[in-house]
Amino acid sequence: MRDFTGSVHRPGDAGYDEARRAWNRAVDPRPALVAEALTPQDVRCAVLEARTKEMPLTVQATGHGTLADVPGALLLRTGDLDHVFVDPFRREVSVGAGAVWSDVIAAAAPYGLAPLSGTPWIGVSGYTLGGGAGYLSRKYGLAADSLLGATIVTADGELVEARDELLWALKGGSGNFGVVTELTLRLFPAERVVAGRSFHPGERAQEVLAAFEELEQPDELNAAVLLMPGMVGLRVLAVEGGERALAPLLKAAGDPLRGGFAEMSFQEAGDVLGPRHDPAPVAHGFELFHRLPPLEGVFGEVRRWGGAMAHGEGPAGHRDVPFSVISSEPVDLPGRTGGAFLNFLVDTSRTADAYTRADYERLVELKKLHDPDNLFRPSHLIGS
Ligand SMILES: Cc1cc2nc3c(=O)[nH]c(=O)nc-3n(C[C@H](O)[C@H](O)[C@H](O)COP(=O)(O)OP(=O)(O)OC[C@H]3O[C@@H](n4cnc5c(N)ncnc54)[C@H](O)[C@@H]3O)c2cc1C
Repeated sequence: MRDFTGSVHRPGDAGYDEARRAWNRAVDPRPALVAEALTPQDVRCAVLEARTKEMPLTVQATGHGTLADVPGALLLRTGDLDHVFVDPFRREVSVGAGAVWSDVIAAAAPYGLAPLSGTPWIGVSGYTLGGGAGYLSRKYGLAADSLLGATIVTADGELVEARDELLWALKGGSGNFGVVTELTLRLFPAERVVAGRSFHPGERAQEVLAAFEELEQPDELNAAVLLMPGMVGLRVLAVEGGERALAPLLKAAGDPLRGGFAEMSFQEAGDVLGPRHDPAPVAHGFELFHRLPPLEGVFGEVRRWGGAMAHGEGPAGHRDVPFSVISSEPVDLPGRTGGAFLNFLVDTSRTADAYTRADYERLVELKKLHDPDNLFRPSHLIGS
Protein backbone atom coordinates (compact mmCIF):
# COMPACT_ATOMS: atom_id res chain seq x y z
CA MET A 1 0.00 0.00 0.00
CA ARG A 2 1.62 3.25 -1.18
CA ASP A 3 3.19 5.49 1.50
CA PHE A 4 1.82 3.35 4.36
CA THR A 5 4.52 3.10 7.07
CA GLY A 6 2.95 0.43 9.36
CA SER A 7 2.70 -3.33 8.90
CA VAL A 8 0.36 -4.84 6.35
CA HIS A 9 -0.90 -8.43 6.47
CA ARG A 10 -2.70 -10.46 3.84
CA PRO A 11 -4.36 -13.88 4.23
CA GLY A 12 -1.60 -16.47 4.38
CA ASP A 13 1.00 -14.06 5.85
CA ALA A 14 2.56 -15.12 9.16
CA GLY A 15 1.14 -12.16 11.12
CA TYR A 16 -2.34 -12.19 9.55
CA ASP A 17 -4.13 -14.34 12.15
CA GLU A 18 -2.84 -12.36 15.10
CA ALA A 19 -3.54 -9.00 13.46
CA ARG A 20 -7.11 -9.76 12.32
CA ARG A 21 -8.37 -11.10 15.64
CA ALA A 22 -10.88 -9.17 17.77
CA TRP A 23 -11.12 -9.24 21.58
CA ASN A 24 -14.72 -10.35 21.05
CA ARG A 25 -14.28 -14.02 20.16
CA ALA A 26 -17.89 -14.36 19.01
CA VAL A 27 -16.66 -13.04 15.65
CA ASP A 28 -13.81 -14.29 13.53
CA PRO A 29 -13.03 -11.46 11.10
CA ARG A 30 -11.29 -12.46 7.87
CA PRO A 31 -10.46 -9.19 6.15
CA ALA A 32 -8.82 -9.06 2.74
CA LEU A 33 -6.09 -6.86 4.21
CA VAL A 34 -5.02 -5.78 7.70
CA ALA A 35 -3.13 -2.48 7.98
CA GLU A 36 -1.61 -1.32 11.28
CA ALA A 37 -1.42 2.49 11.26
CA LEU A 38 1.52 4.25 12.90
CA THR A 39 0.52 7.82 12.01
CA PRO A 40 -2.56 9.82 10.96
CA GLN A 41 -1.04 9.89 7.46
CA ASP A 42 -1.17 6.07 7.49
CA VAL A 43 -4.88 6.33 8.25
CA ARG A 44 -5.26 8.59 5.19
CA CYS A 45 -3.34 6.07 3.04
CA ALA A 46 -5.57 3.22 4.21
CA VAL A 47 -8.77 5.16 3.56
CA LEU A 48 -7.58 6.13 0.07
CA GLU A 49 -6.51 2.52 -0.63
CA ALA A 50 -9.91 1.19 0.44
CA ARG A 51 -11.67 3.84 -1.60
CA THR A 52 -9.59 3.25 -4.73
CA LYS A 53 -9.92 -0.54 -4.52
CA GLU A 54 -13.63 -0.27 -3.57
CA MET A 55 -13.07 -2.23 -0.37
CA PRO A 56 -15.20 -1.60 2.74
CA LEU A 57 -13.13 -0.23 5.62
CA THR A 58 -13.40 -1.46 9.20
CA VAL A 59 -11.51 -0.12 12.22
CA GLN A 60 -10.28 -1.88 15.32
CA ALA A 61 -8.57 -0.46 18.37
CA THR A 62 -9.07 -3.39 20.79
CA GLY A 63 -11.86 -5.40 19.17
CA HIS A 64 -14.14 -5.24 22.24
CA GLY A 65 -16.88 -3.77 20.06
CA THR A 66 -16.25 -5.72 16.87
CA LEU A 67 -19.54 -7.55 16.32
CA ALA A 68 -19.54 -8.52 12.66
CA ASP A 69 -17.20 -9.70 9.93
CA VAL A 70 -17.28 -7.57 6.79
CA PRO A 71 -16.28 -9.69 3.80
CA GLY A 72 -13.52 -8.28 1.61
CA ALA A 73 -12.74 -5.46 4.06
CA LEU A 74 -9.59 -3.53 4.70
CA LEU A 75 -9.20 -3.76 8.49
CA LEU A 76 -7.37 -0.73 9.87
CA ARG A 77 -5.80 -1.27 13.28
CA THR A 78 -5.21 1.86 15.34
CA GLY A 79 -3.61 0.41 18.49
CA ASP A 80 -0.26 2.15 17.86
CA LEU A 81 -1.87 5.61 17.75
CA ASP A 82 -1.97 5.66 21.52
CA HIS A 83 -0.62 9.03 22.68
CA VAL A 84 -2.27 10.80 25.63
CA PHE A 85 -1.69 14.52 26.42
CA VAL A 86 -3.37 15.98 29.49
CA ASP A 87 -3.89 19.74 29.79
CA PRO A 88 -4.61 20.09 33.52
CA PHE A 89 -5.40 23.80 33.28
CA ARG A 90 -8.10 23.37 30.66
CA ARG A 91 -9.12 20.02 32.16
CA GLU A 92 -8.88 18.36 28.78
CA VAL A 93 -7.10 15.39 27.30
CA SER A 94 -6.10 14.69 23.70
CA VAL A 95 -6.04 10.98 22.98
CA GLY A 96 -4.79 9.01 19.99
CA ALA A 97 -7.36 6.75 18.32
CA GLY A 98 -5.85 3.55 19.68
CA ALA A 99 -5.48 4.49 23.36
CA VAL A 100 -7.32 2.54 26.05
CA TRP A 101 -8.92 4.14 29.09
CA SER A 102 -6.28 2.92 31.55
CA ASP A 103 -3.72 5.10 29.67
CA VAL A 104 -5.92 8.18 30.10
CA ILE A 105 -6.80 7.42 33.72
CA ALA A 106 -3.09 7.09 34.59
CA ALA A 107 -2.18 10.33 32.79
CA ALA A 108 -4.99 12.36 34.40
CA ALA A 109 -4.64 10.96 37.95
CA PRO A 110 -1.64 13.11 39.04
CA TYR A 111 -3.86 16.20 38.55
CA GLY A 112 -6.81 14.80 40.51
CA LEU A 113 -8.73 14.47 37.24
CA ALA A 114 -10.52 11.60 35.55
CA PRO A 115 -12.24 10.86 32.23
CA LEU A 116 -15.78 9.50 31.88
CA SER A 117 -14.42 5.98 31.47
CA GLY A 118 -15.98 2.64 32.31
CA THR A 119 -14.07 -0.64 32.07
CA PRO A 120 -10.43 0.54 31.87
CA TRP A 121 -9.32 -1.91 29.15
CA ILE A 122 -11.76 -0.64 26.54
CA GLY A 123 -10.65 1.58 23.66
CA VAL A 124 -11.34 5.28 24.17
CA SER A 125 -12.50 5.75 20.57
CA GLY A 126 -15.01 2.92 20.23
CA TYR A 127 -16.40 3.56 23.71
CA THR A 128 -16.80 7.32 23.19
CA LEU A 129 -18.19 7.11 19.67
CA GLY A 130 -20.73 4.54 20.91
CA GLY A 131 -21.99 6.71 23.79
CA GLY A 132 -19.79 5.77 26.71
CA ALA A 133 -21.59 5.12 30.01
CA GLY A 134 -18.96 5.17 32.76
CA TYR A 135 -18.56 5.18 36.51
CA LEU A 136 -18.84 8.99 36.74
CA SER A 137 -21.56 9.34 34.13
CA ARG A 138 -24.46 9.87 36.53
CA LYS A 139 -22.55 12.86 37.89
CA TYR A 140 -21.01 14.26 34.69
CA GLY A 141 -22.76 12.65 31.70
CA LEU A 142 -21.96 10.28 28.85
CA ALA A 143 -18.40 10.22 27.52
CA ALA A 144 -19.77 11.08 24.07
CA ASP A 145 -21.10 14.35 25.47
CA SER A 146 -17.66 15.13 26.91
CA LEU A 147 -16.17 15.06 23.39
CA LEU A 148 -14.79 18.54 22.67
CA GLY A 149 -13.19 17.87 19.33
CA ALA A 150 -12.00 15.17 16.96
CA THR A 151 -9.54 14.87 14.10
CA ILE A 152 -10.97 12.56 11.49
CA VAL A 153 -10.10 11.13 8.10
CA THR A 154 -13.13 11.54 5.87
CA ALA A 155 -14.33 9.30 3.04
CA ASP A 156 -12.36 11.36 0.49
CA GLY A 157 -9.16 10.85 2.49
CA GLU A 158 -8.93 14.35 4.00
CA LEU A 159 -7.67 14.82 7.57
CA VAL A 160 -10.00 17.42 9.11
CA GLU A 161 -11.22 18.75 12.44
CA ALA A 162 -14.79 17.57 12.94
CA ARG A 163 -17.12 20.51 13.53
CA ASP A 164 -20.81 21.28 13.84
CA GLU A 165 -23.01 18.47 12.54
CA LEU A 166 -20.12 16.06 11.99
CA LEU A 167 -18.93 16.52 15.58
CA TRP A 168 -22.51 16.00 16.76
CA ALA A 169 -22.71 12.74 14.80
CA LEU A 170 -19.54 11.45 16.44
CA LYS A 171 -21.15 11.82 19.87
CA GLY A 172 -22.81 8.42 19.56
CA GLY A 173 -22.87 7.62 15.83
CA SER A 174 -19.93 5.15 16.07
CA GLY A 175 -17.45 4.79 13.20
CA ASN A 176 -19.95 5.66 10.46
CA PHE A 177 -18.53 9.03 9.46
CA GLY A 178 -14.79 8.52 9.13
CA VAL A 179 -11.75 7.25 10.98
CA VAL A 180 -10.93 9.30 14.05
CA THR A 181 -7.21 9.83 14.59
CA GLU A 182 -7.45 11.90 17.78
CA LEU A 183 -10.16 12.84 20.28
CA THR A 184 -10.18 15.73 22.73
CA LEU A 185 -12.23 15.02 25.83
CA ARG A 186 -13.18 16.92 28.96
CA LEU A 187 -11.74 15.71 32.28
CA PHE A 188 -13.47 15.95 35.66
CA PRO A 189 -12.34 16.20 39.29
CA ALA A 190 -12.34 12.74 40.88
CA GLU A 191 -9.46 12.15 43.22
CA ARG A 192 -10.87 9.97 45.99
CA VAL A 193 -13.93 7.81 45.46
CA VAL A 194 -15.73 5.12 47.44
CA ALA A 195 -15.93 1.98 45.35
CA GLY A 196 -16.13 -1.77 45.42
CA ARG A 197 -18.25 -4.82 44.86
CA SER A 198 -20.09 -6.78 47.54
CA PHE A 199 -21.69 -10.20 47.16
CA HIS A 200 -24.70 -11.42 49.16
CA PRO A 201 -26.82 -14.58 49.37
CA GLY A 202 -28.91 -15.12 46.26
CA GLU A 203 -32.15 -15.34 48.23
CA ARG A 204 -31.87 -11.59 48.86
CA ALA A 205 -32.00 -10.80 45.14
CA GLN A 206 -35.68 -9.83 44.92
CA GLU A 207 -35.46 -7.55 47.98
CA VAL A 208 -32.32 -5.94 46.59
CA LEU A 209 -33.99 -5.32 43.22
CA ALA A 210 -37.06 -3.83 44.92
CA ALA A 211 -34.84 -1.53 47.02
CA PHE A 212 -32.82 -0.60 43.93
CA GLU A 213 -35.94 0.37 42.01
CA GLU A 214 -37.10 2.65 44.84
CA LEU A 215 -33.65 4.00 45.75
CA GLU A 216 -33.33 7.78 45.88
CA GLN A 217 -30.07 7.76 44.00
CA PRO A 218 -28.14 11.03 43.93
CA ASP A 219 -26.04 11.81 40.87
CA GLU A 220 -22.98 11.23 43.07
CA LEU A 221 -23.80 7.52 43.33
CA ASN A 222 -23.32 4.98 40.56
CA ALA A 223 -24.70 1.63 41.72
CA ALA A 224 -25.55 -1.53 39.80
CA VAL A 225 -27.07 -4.83 40.91
CA LEU A 226 -25.27 -7.97 39.73
CA LEU A 227 -27.40 -11.11 39.37
CA MET A 228 -25.34 -14.29 39.57
CA PRO A 229 -26.06 -17.98 40.21
CA GLY A 230 -26.56 -18.23 43.99
CA MET A 231 -25.52 -14.64 44.71
CA VAL A 232 -26.61 -11.05 44.31
CA GLY A 233 -23.94 -8.38 44.06
CA LEU A 234 -23.66 -4.62 44.30
CA ARG A 235 -21.16 -2.64 42.24
CA VAL A 236 -20.65 0.88 43.51
CA LEU A 237 -18.66 3.99 42.74
CA ALA A 238 -19.58 7.10 44.73
CA VAL A 239 -18.14 10.61 44.90
CA GLU A 240 -18.73 13.45 47.35
CA GLY A 241 -20.54 11.34 49.95
CA GLY A 242 -22.92 9.67 47.46
CA GLU A 243 -22.35 6.34 49.23
CA ARG A 244 -24.59 7.51 52.10
CA ALA A 245 -27.61 6.92 49.86
CA LEU A 246 -26.75 3.21 49.72
CA ALA A 247 -28.28 2.49 53.14
CA PRO A 248 -31.64 1.01 51.94
CA LEU A 249 -29.84 -1.18 49.43
CA LEU A 250 -27.37 -2.48 52.00
CA LYS A 251 -30.22 -3.18 54.41
CA ALA A 252 -32.01 -5.24 51.75
CA ALA A 253 -28.81 -7.10 50.84
CA GLY A 254 -27.84 -8.04 54.41
CA ASP A 255 -24.34 -9.06 55.45
CA PRO A 256 -22.03 -9.69 52.52
CA LEU A 257 -20.59 -13.13 51.88
CA ARG A 258 -17.53 -11.32 50.55
CA GLY A 259 -16.37 -7.99 49.17
CA GLY A 260 -17.24 -4.48 50.31
CA PHE A 261 -16.61 -0.81 49.66
CA ALA A 262 -13.64 1.38 50.55
CA GLU A 263 -12.18 4.78 49.81
CA MET A 264 -9.59 4.66 47.02
CA SER A 265 -8.32 6.59 44.02
CA PHE A 266 -10.34 6.62 40.80
CA GLN A 267 -7.49 4.70 39.19
CA GLU A 268 -7.67 1.92 41.81
CA ALA A 269 -11.45 1.82 41.46
CA GLY A 270 -11.13 0.97 37.78
CA ASP A 271 -9.15 -2.17 38.59
CA VAL A 272 -11.55 -3.19 41.37
CA LEU A 273 -14.74 -2.65 39.36
CA GLY A 274 -13.64 -3.80 35.92
CA PRO A 275 -10.85 -6.34 36.27
CA ARG A 276 -9.06 -7.23 33.04
CA HIS A 277 -10.56 -10.21 31.19
CA ASP A 278 -8.98 -12.44 28.59
CA PRO A 279 -10.63 -12.25 25.16
CA ALA A 280 -14.09 -13.82 25.28
CA PRO A 281 -17.29 -14.02 23.24
CA VAL A 282 -19.65 -11.05 23.69
CA ALA A 283 -23.21 -12.34 23.35
CA HIS A 284 -25.32 -10.66 26.03
CA GLY A 285 -28.81 -9.19 25.83
CA PHE A 286 -29.51 -5.53 26.59
CA GLU A 287 -32.86 -3.85 27.19
CA LEU A 288 -34.16 -0.59 28.68
CA PHE A 289 -37.09 -0.29 31.13
CA HIS A 290 -39.17 2.36 32.85
CA ARG A 291 -39.95 -0.17 35.63
CA LEU A 292 -37.89 -3.25 36.39
CA PRO A 293 -39.34 -6.50 35.00
CA PRO A 294 -39.44 -9.74 37.02
CA LEU A 295 -35.86 -11.04 36.91
CA GLU A 296 -36.05 -14.50 38.51
CA GLY A 297 -33.61 -16.80 36.73
CA VAL A 298 -31.95 -13.96 34.82
CA PHE A 299 -28.19 -13.48 35.27
CA GLY A 300 -26.52 -10.22 34.45
CA GLU A 301 -26.46 -6.61 35.56
CA VAL A 302 -29.14 -4.05 36.37
CA ARG A 303 -28.13 -0.41 35.95
CA ARG A 304 -29.77 2.88 36.70
CA TRP A 305 -29.28 5.62 34.11
CA GLY A 306 -30.40 9.23 34.46
CA GLY A 307 -28.54 11.88 36.40
CA ALA A 308 -26.34 13.91 34.07
CA MET A 309 -26.76 11.19 31.39
CA ALA A 310 -30.34 12.41 30.98
CA HIS A 311 -28.97 15.63 29.47
CA GLY A 312 -26.52 16.08 26.65
CA GLU A 313 -26.54 17.28 23.12
CA GLY A 314 -25.32 14.19 21.23
CA PRO A 315 -27.44 11.44 19.65
CA ALA A 316 -26.40 8.68 22.10
CA GLY A 317 -29.10 6.75 23.85
CA HIS A 318 -32.57 7.36 25.22
CA ARG A 319 -32.27 10.07 27.82
CA ASP A 320 -35.57 9.50 29.64
CA VAL A 321 -35.28 5.79 30.52
CA PRO A 322 -34.09 4.96 34.05
CA PHE A 323 -33.19 1.24 34.00
CA SER A 324 -31.31 -1.25 31.88
CA VAL A 325 -30.79 -4.99 32.14
CA ILE A 326 -27.73 -6.59 30.60
CA SER A 327 -28.50 -10.31 30.61
CA SER A 328 -25.89 -13.00 30.09
CA GLU A 329 -27.88 -14.10 27.04
CA PRO A 330 -30.75 -12.39 25.17
CA VAL A 331 -34.07 -12.90 27.02
CA ASP A 332 -37.55 -11.69 26.18
CA LEU A 333 -38.37 -9.56 29.22
CA PRO A 334 -41.79 -7.93 29.59
CA GLY A 335 -42.00 -4.13 29.62
CA ARG A 336 -38.86 -3.43 27.61
CA THR A 337 -39.04 -0.08 25.84
CA GLY A 338 -37.54 -1.44 22.61
CA GLY A 339 -34.75 1.12 22.89
CA ALA A 340 -31.06 0.32 23.36
CA PHE A 341 -27.66 1.88 23.99
CA LEU A 342 -25.19 1.36 21.16
CA ASN A 343 -22.21 0.29 23.28
CA PHE A 344 -24.21 -2.53 24.88
CA LEU A 345 -26.15 -3.57 21.78
CA VAL A 346 -24.83 -6.81 20.34
CA ASP A 347 -27.62 -7.35 17.79
CA THR A 348 -26.45 -5.39 14.73
CA SER A 349 -29.90 -5.61 13.13
CA ARG A 350 -31.18 -3.28 15.88
CA THR A 351 -28.81 -0.31 15.40
CA ALA A 352 -31.68 2.17 14.93
CA ASP A 353 -33.06 1.18 18.38
CA ALA A 354 -30.08 2.88 20.01
CA TYR A 355 -31.38 6.34 19.05
CA THR A 356 -34.52 8.39 19.20
CA ARG A 357 -36.29 8.39 15.85
CA ALA A 358 -35.39 12.06 15.23
CA ASP A 359 -31.72 11.55 16.03
CA TYR A 360 -31.53 8.42 13.90
CA GLU A 361 -33.06 10.23 10.92
CA ARG A 362 -30.52 13.02 11.34
CA LEU A 363 -27.68 10.46 11.52
CA VAL A 364 -28.93 8.75 8.35
CA GLU A 365 -28.87 12.09 6.50
CA LEU A 366 -25.35 12.80 7.78
CA LYS A 367 -24.18 9.32 6.74
CA LYS A 368 -25.48 9.99 3.19
CA LEU A 369 -23.67 13.33 3.17
CA HIS A 370 -20.32 12.20 4.60
CA ASP A 371 -20.12 8.60 3.37
CA PRO A 372 -22.51 8.15 0.43
CA ASP A 373 -20.76 4.95 -0.73
CA ASN A 374 -20.76 3.25 2.69
CA LEU A 375 -16.96 3.05 2.73
CA PHE A 376 -16.95 3.03 6.55
CA ARG A 377 -18.47 -0.20 7.88
CA PRO A 378 -18.62 -0.24 11.66
CA SER A 379 -20.49 -3.18 13.15
CA HIS A 380 -23.42 -0.84 13.78
CA LEU A 381 -24.02 0.58 10.33
CA ILE A 382 -26.28 3.65 10.19
CA GLY A 383 -28.84 3.80 7.39
CA SER A 384 -29.18 0.20 6.27
C1 LIG B 1 -15.84 -6.38 28.83
C2 LIG B 1 -16.53 -5.17 28.27
C3 LIG B 1 -16.81 -4.10 29.12
C4 LIG B 1 -17.45 -2.96 28.63
N1 LIG B 1 -17.72 -1.91 29.47
C5 LIG B 1 -18.37 -0.81 29.00
C6 LIG B 1 -18.71 0.28 29.85
O1 LIG B 1 -18.42 0.28 31.06
N2 LIG B 1 -19.40 1.33 29.33
C7 LIG B 1 -19.70 1.41 27.99
O2 LIG B 1 -20.29 2.40 27.55
N3 LIG B 1 -19.38 0.40 27.16
C8 LIG B 1 -18.75 -0.70 27.64
N4 LIG B 1 -18.45 -1.73 26.78
C9 LIG B 1 -18.81 -1.60 25.37
C10 LIG B 1 -17.66 -0.91 24.62
O3 LIG B 1 -17.65 0.46 24.92
C11 LIG B 1 -17.86 -1.11 23.11
O4 LIG B 1 -17.71 -2.47 22.82
C12 LIG B 1 -16.86 -0.28 22.28
O5 LIG B 1 -17.23 -0.35 20.93
C13 LIG B 1 -15.46 -0.80 22.43
O6 LIG B 1 -14.56 0.07 21.78
P1 LIG B 1 -13.11 -0.46 21.37
O7 LIG B 1 -12.46 0.68 20.64
O8 LIG B 1 -12.43 -1.03 22.55
O9 LIG B 1 -13.48 -1.67 20.41
P2 LIG B 1 -13.22 -1.89 18.85
O10 LIG B 1 -13.88 -3.19 18.54
O11 LIG B 1 -11.79 -1.76 18.54
O12 LIG B 1 -14.03 -0.72 18.18
C14 LIG B 1 -15.43 -0.75 18.20
C15 LIG B 1 -16.01 0.07 17.08
O13 LIG B 1 -15.71 1.44 17.34
C16 LIG B 1 -15.45 2.11 16.12
N5 LIG B 1 -14.11 2.71 16.19
C17 LIG B 1 -13.07 2.34 16.99
N6 LIG B 1 -12.02 3.14 16.76
C18 LIG B 1 -12.42 4.02 15.82
C19 LIG B 1 -11.79 5.12 15.17
N7 LIG B 1 -10.52 5.47 15.44
N8 LIG B 1 -12.48 5.82 14.24
C20 LIG B 1 -13.75 5.48 13.96
N9 LIG B 1 -14.40 4.46 14.54
C21 LIG B 1 -13.74 3.74 15.46
C22 LIG B 1 -15.52 1.13 15.01
O14 LIG B 1 -16.76 1.19 14.41
C23 LIG B 1 -15.39 -0.21 15.71
O15 LIG B 1 -16.10 -1.22 15.05
C24 LIG B 1 -17.83 -2.89 27.26
C25 LIG B 1 -17.56 -3.96 26.40
C26 LIG B 1 -16.91 -5.10 26.90
C27 LIG B 1 -16.65 -6.24 25.95
